[in-house]
Amino acid sequence: MIDFKENIDKLYSMMDNCNICPRKCGVNRNKGQQGLCKTGNKIFVASINVHTGEEPPISASNGSGTIFFSNCTLNCVFCQNYPISQLGNGKEISLDSLVGSILDLQKRGVHNINFVTPSHYSAQIAKAVYIAKQRGLVIPIVYNCSGYENVETLQLLEGIVDIYLPDIKYASDEIAFKYSKVKNYVQANQIALKEMKRQVGDLTVDQNGVAKKGIIVRHLVLPGNINNTKNTLKFISEELSINTYVSLMSQYHPAYKSNEFKELSHSLSLQEYNEAVDYLEILKLRNGWIQNL
Ligand code: SF4
Repeated sequence: MIDFKENIDKLYSMMDNCNICPRKCGVNRNKGQQGLCKTGNKIFVASINVHTGEEPPISASNGSGTIFFSNCTLNCVFCQNYPISQLGNGKEISLDSLVGSILDLQKRGVHNINFVTPSHYSAQIAKAVYIAKQRGLVIPIVYNCSGYENVETLQLLEGIVDIYLPDIKYASDEIAFKYSKVKNYVQANQIALKEMKRQVGDLTVDQNGVAKKGIIVRHLVLPGNINNTKNTLKFISEELSINTYVSLMSQYHPAYKSNEFKELSHSLSLQEYNEAVDYLEILKLRNGWIQNL
């Protein structure tokens, strides 16, 4: 039996000496100090709206109720949303207002509440969902994250999150450090994804194809890094499951500081994306989605 109140308290106390994510900055966020994610004890949100462009079981017919948080625990040079993740665009909202927004989105008929870039706000999200459930929230919760997660944080989110939608950005720490200035991405990411899988299993949908529970793994194919993609897919097939739903994304475009790296300064080629798609087939990863280039 999960004691949600106790888990929420534990999440908040992790911010005393912050180790909410694997950066483990050690700052006291409850007193307003900020670590690498530039986030103290206030909540900043960049947008709240109905999103129709997520994977089909997430957006489905009525859309996904998306709450997009400001700032991020990673510093990816190619971030496609850098004004929000790196420049901190967004406005402050209270926890009460977050609860109200969740319930408003549900009233608008969305299929789920989709927290985007949620990791540094895990405690506040858990509390807001707990309160919203007491006030009538019944639709699934989606945790749409970078995959750079502290497994202890995830364990405290068990029963709060229904659908995990993590990235696997890298299968190499060398590349992770080069592009995202992070030293332990691969180990943290792989342990985190196994924990997500343990909690919610493979994706399940209702009779209309709408996601109810499970994990969907996203991977953005980076130009000039096909081996990173192949090793990522290998991890999924060998250590998660060949039934895993994989969203193989081709939408990379040079953004933020990507021009500092020659291989990232242009879009993905059709040849590279096709090679990634072929590799899905070689590994028999047949669940999920590919995109048009
Ligand atoms: S959540 Fe922010 S302050 Fe806490 S460990 Fe991660 S980056 Fe550091």
